[in-house]
Amino acid sequence: MASALTSEIPGADPAWHRRHDHPYFKESHYKLQRFVREYVDREIAPNVEEWERNAEVPEAAFKRHASLGFLAASAFPIPKEYVKGVTLPAGLSVDEWDEFHDAIIIDEMARCACLGTIWGINGGATVGGPPPRPLWVATAEGKISCSSSAWTATSLSLFGSDVAGLTTIAKKTPDGKHYVLSGEKKWVTQGRWATHGLVAARTGPAGAKGISVFIVPLDNEKISKRKIENSGVSSSGSTYMEFDEILVPAENLLGKENQGFEIIMSTFAHERLWVGITALRLGRVAYEDSYRYALKRETFGKPLFENQVIRQKFSRMANLLEPTQAYVEELVYRSVRLPSLDFSPLAAMLKVQAAHNLEKISRETQQVFGGLGYSRQGQGQRVEQISRDVRVLVVSGGSEEILLDMIAKQQRKLAHL
Ligand SMILES: Cc1cc2nc3c(=O)[nH]c(=O)nc-3n(C[C@H](O)[C@H](O)[C@H](O)COP(=O)(O)OP(=O)(O)OC[C@H]3O[C@@H](n4cnc5c(N)ncnc54)[C@H](O)[C@@H]3O)c2cc1C
Repeated sequence: MASALTSEIPGADPAWHRRHDHPYFKESHYKLQRFVREYVDREIAPNVEEWERNAEVPEAAFKRHASLGFLAASAFPIPKEYVKGVTLPAGLSVDEWDEFHDAIIIDEMARCACLGTIWGINGGATVGGPPPRPLWVATAEGKISCSSSAWTATSLSLFGSDVAGLTTIAKKTPDGKHYVLSGEKKWVTQGRWATHGLVAARTGPAGAKGISVFIVPLDNEKISKRKIENSGVSSSGSTYMEFDEILVPAENLLGKENQGFEIIMSTFAHERLWVGITALRLGRVAYEDSYRYALKRETFGKPLFENQVIRQKFSRMANLLEPTQAYVEELVYRSVRLPSLDFSPLAAMLKVQAAHNLEKISRETQQVFGGLGYSRQGQGQRVEQISRDVRVLVVSGGSEEILLDMIAKQQRKLAHL
């Protein structure tokens, strides 16, 4: 049986790494975990500081990431019929790939401790639509394949909290061959280098039943792009875009006209699971770094860890991490077994809780590091980076206030009360 690569610091890694009788994790999961951990430690983590400073992930790194199968594997659930013949990470076959392989990639990628790079190298790489539209999947060469076309990876361009109230407009031309699209979008992740965007626009009446989704080529002089400076996520390519009456071929409509709301909503459940797993792992990274520091930093003649008040901080943080881990594993299992309406409030709960936990852990681990937790260099550097990235996990993928309300409403509806 393969074993996991795991940390010796208690709480720095999930318990399944050391538990070979775990019902969810099989031989291929351990194999994948080792593969991704070695890759992140060797090729990603040592570079994130430079990539974040340069505000981009180099193309060579992106291509390498794609060549190992990470982009193809980012579709969820993996569309087995479209990725036949594609090499998946660790050389696993499409037929053995399951929802826990997906979760392991998300978890291990987040160990690079830099949300900007996680988004910059893998965010929004796969787009798709309901039948009869094919799924457009990133191949090993870093291209998106769809019928005969070959495209480089794409990004998303959607909306704020109020999806149904979005203001980007698309009108069909009289000959029916194109849509004319106008509007704007703030924070298009990867927008600075993506060749195509998944754009939601109003094509019908106000509300959820008047929205369509388009695959839009972004190399167009009528699209203006401006870099956005955020607190963190510098290497994610965050962009402000304006669409000034651009022509989009009618065949680039994803699914059916005015039925885009469902497509948008279908992406959210996995995105929220993704946020949950990522926030949990970023919390573990901050926990591990500060734990190591507390063991060796001496004040008043003894290591920080020898103080009861410091040890309590670690226990409190572990109390946030471990129940969330159990919930993550439960939800990953359910993600392909529950109807999406039942699953979506559960994923939203995870997203809200894990992001909230990370806010607390970020604060406490910075506190353990003292001044070093506020410095971009040195031992507290990863904790400092996380402190700049954490807020966007609370806001994006469904902001806290919106999700908490949605959870209560949807659960009442499901209970027919
Ligand atoms: C760095 C970054 C990258 C991003 N990348 C992408 C991307 O690639 N693709 C993409 O589509 N989006 C992206 N986003 C956008 C993100 O999804 C939105 O910021 C998020 O959905 C919140 O929308 P908003 O910023 O318009 O806030 P608003 O909708 O203006 O809301 C502001 C605040 O008010 C709260 N609020 C809103 N309405 C209500 C209400 N009725 N009751 C109570 N509270 C309310 C919200 O929770 C929020 O806290 C990104 C954002 C950032 C910061």
